[in-house]
Amino acid sequence: MITELETIEDIFNVIKEKYPNWIIDVLDSYSTDYPELQANWNILCDVFKAKPQKILLVSAFEADDHFSFAEVLTQVGFVVRTIHEFHSCDICKSAIPNKHMYEKMKELKKNVPSSYQINCSICL
Ligand SMILES: [Zn+2]
Repeated sequence: MITELETIEDIFNVIKEKYPNWIIDVLDSYSTDYPELQANWNILCDVFKAKPQKILLVSAFEADDHFSFAEVLTQVGFVVRTIHEFHSCDICKSAIPNKHMYEKMKELKKNVPSSYQINCSICL
């Protein structure tokens, strides 16, 4: 069913109909404190020859077709993450990892701020 959908709008219409509460937040970009996340998104878009669209924060991945929707959306330039992984900066609404994600990234020696903040360092 999903593979028959042609436009991004069609995908969202099906999601809205089937899972009206799945998408919690729609964000434009990652916080400037996490340049690697933004760079990875751009690389993924290059792979799919898509333009970066939006970061969608969803409630969770609970149904099989949640994964299918995320896969299709990723191929057309979206990022789909859960609210357990990311939240938005109160000021600029860009995506920031939650504390446990931050700690995981720090452990993996990713380029992250030296201490955790819920908002961007430039927005504090
Ligand atoms: Zn901010």
